[in-house]
Amino acid sequence: MAEIHTLYDVIVIGAGPAGYISAIRCAQLGFKTACIDGWLNKKGQSSLGGAHLNAGCVATIALLESSKIYHLLKHGINVHGIYADNITVDIPKVIARKDNIIETFGGKIADIFAYHKIDYLHGKAQLLNEKHVRVSSSDSPSPMVMEAKHIILATGSSPTELPYAPIDGEFIIDTAMALNLDAVPETLAIIGGGVIGLELGGIWNRFGAKTTLLEAQETFLSLPDHEISSEAYRIYRSQGLDVRLGARVITAKPHNNKVTLSYQDQQGTHTLCIDKLIVASGRKPNTDNLAAPEADLLLDENGFVHVNENCRTNLPGVYAIGDLTVLGPMLAHKGIVEGLFVAEQIAGIHNPINYEALPSVIYTDPEIAWVGQTEQALRAIAEPIKVGVFPLNANLRVHTTGQNNEGMVKIIAHAETDAILGVHIIGTHASEILAEAVLAIEFSASSEDLVQTIHAHPTLSETLHEAALALKNRALHVPLPFS
Ligand code: NAD
Repeated sequence: MAEIHTLYDVIVIGAGPAGYISAIRCAQLGFKTACIDGWLNKKGQSSLGGAHLNAGCVATIALLESSKIYHLLKHGINVHGIYADNITVDIPKVIARKDNIIETFGGKIADIFAYHKIDYLHGKAQLLNEKHVRVSSSDSPSPMVMEAKHIILATGSSPTELPYAPIDGEFIIDTAMALNLDAVPETLAIIGGGVIGLELGGIWNRFGAKTTLLEAQETFLSLPDHEISSEAYRIYRSQGLDVRLGARVITAKPHNNKVTLSYQDQQGTHTLCIDKLIVASGRKPNTDNLAAPEADLLLDENGFVHVNENCRTNLPGVYAIGDLTVLGPMLAHKGIVEGLFVAEQIAGIHNPINYEALPSVIYTDPEIAWVGQTEQALRAIAEPIKVGVFPLNANLRVHTTGQNNEGMVKIIAHAETDAILGVHIIGTHASEILAEAVLAIEFSASSEDLVQTIHAHPTLSETLHEAALALKNRALHVPLPFS
């Protein structure tokens, strides 16, 4: 077996947001850098950007936007005095638009790699030891061994499978396949009412599929503040999403061109017969065969790479970032900051990450976005807090857009120091409104700092300003403190 040794300063394994950003930062810092990734798109071509771009958030948001336009034209355009008849949707074209976005952005990453002289290799990489990586590629008849002073593992995650609902690719599909349907199913069920289940459920429900979401937990969306989760539950159900809580799926199998599914809840066992079933029951780190056994890379009992607070693995000079570790949630921007952090550490710059100021977003319509702690978690530790809530329907800008005006902005501050401890939003463009709140928390701002900040009028960002005012019972566009 012919083996070629190439010496790099840094090899990054994985070109998702964590990996490709880390490779770019390494190159900016003057390191000779290579990035290896094995993703193949539908055309069998290599594609940068990882699951996030190719089969995750970006693909989801592209479909979300198409579904919102379709729904608006079908159900909400008349309020503008605009009438549109015979609105139909061509799903293959919707999917092709999404694929085109992915291809264009993947190409831009490749251009940036070329600009920075980052060597991109398409293939499957395996860590052999703290300095060597073996790359198997369809372009080369025999594996190649590459050498580097530092190695960054960034291979991301993939959907978990449920043995009692095996994926067949046609009737029972995973969350990536659910972004490539060729028609709207008449009836659809989703296992899992987490972030991905809600995002996919919203899209296909808006395109016209009668959608049932089965969630094993009794509580709906436990991560954001419960007031926001309750509002989300009400809104999604009013949109026609059939959310069933405490519903644990026990079996699902294709039968007569449909799927027969059984689930248990407190009332007993129920059966559903649907056209398609999406399994959205979580994601697992891509650590199978990531390291050769003799490399002795330490994993935890769930297969995540064991790292310290500096993303260092048990092997000197080997780092792990993004979905591979349990340092923070599986979020693209968590991977991005870790990618930057590790590249700078290699250059001797120590710029620690403030995981407390990590934003979260659920890309539904309306969006859910939050940063910091919930009212419930703070009350549970008897922290003295004050809370301000402002309803979106009291904001002028949201009315002019004619978009969904449901939702609220909630700010939680320390009762004595006034420091902002959490901001939770449900509403149109919540992810954009949240950016100011993230900055406020990053800079340890008080709610008074937000009150003193001049916000352009009329803008959606004023909802955050008004929530800060509401915290002092001074909200301007609601007659009484909103409750
Ligand atoms: P999740 O863990 O958030 O949700 C999966 C849900 O499936 C859980 O609530 C679980 O109770 C339920 N479940 C499991 N087995 C079940 C069964 N048999 N019957 C009924 N319900 C069952 O997982 P996810 O939604 O797949 O997301 C995975 C990760 O990816 C999360 O960390 C998420 O934050 C991240 N992610 C984030 C974004 C974003 O930032 N917008 C987008 C995609 C994914």
